[in-house]
Amino acid sequence: MTEQRPAPRKPVPSPNIETQFYWDKVQEGELWLQRCQDCDKPYFYPRFFCPRCLGTNVEWFKASGRGRLHTYVINHRPPPAFEAEAPYALAVVELEEGVRMMTNIHGIANTPENLVLEMPLRVVFEELNPGGGVKVPYWVPT
Ligand SMILES: [Zn+2]
Repeated sequence: MTEQRPAPRKPVPSPNIETQFYWDKVQEGELWLQRCQDCDKPYFYPRFFCPRCLGTNVEWFKASGRGRLHTYVINHRPPPAFEAEAPYALAVVELEEGVRMMTNIHGIANTPENLVLEMPLRVVFEELNPGGGVKVPYWVPT
């Protein structure tokens, strides 16, 4: 007898006390970052302290949602649940605010011809698994 297994699904984020606010805003279609009020420098990923000065005088602010393609590698060997999208870029976007975020580029075929370094991008929020309800930020060309 053949066992019927459900199709694999992408692992969803597990917010913790440091990242809950970030993920709540992502679900609302907004991208928020943190800034150190002592250094006046933004940072990402979310945490309770500044990665530069280790100060805890930090605040949240809404990001512009604009960035540029900093670098990428095209993955041709996807893990389970990612096969339909391969080949796809594992990209690093530098946000207008100066922080960098690892992500995927949507809206265009992920080929070296299409993925031009420094190309302007904007953030979008899409469900990680279709119909799964959990959104994550992706980036698309402007
Ligand atoms: Zn600081």
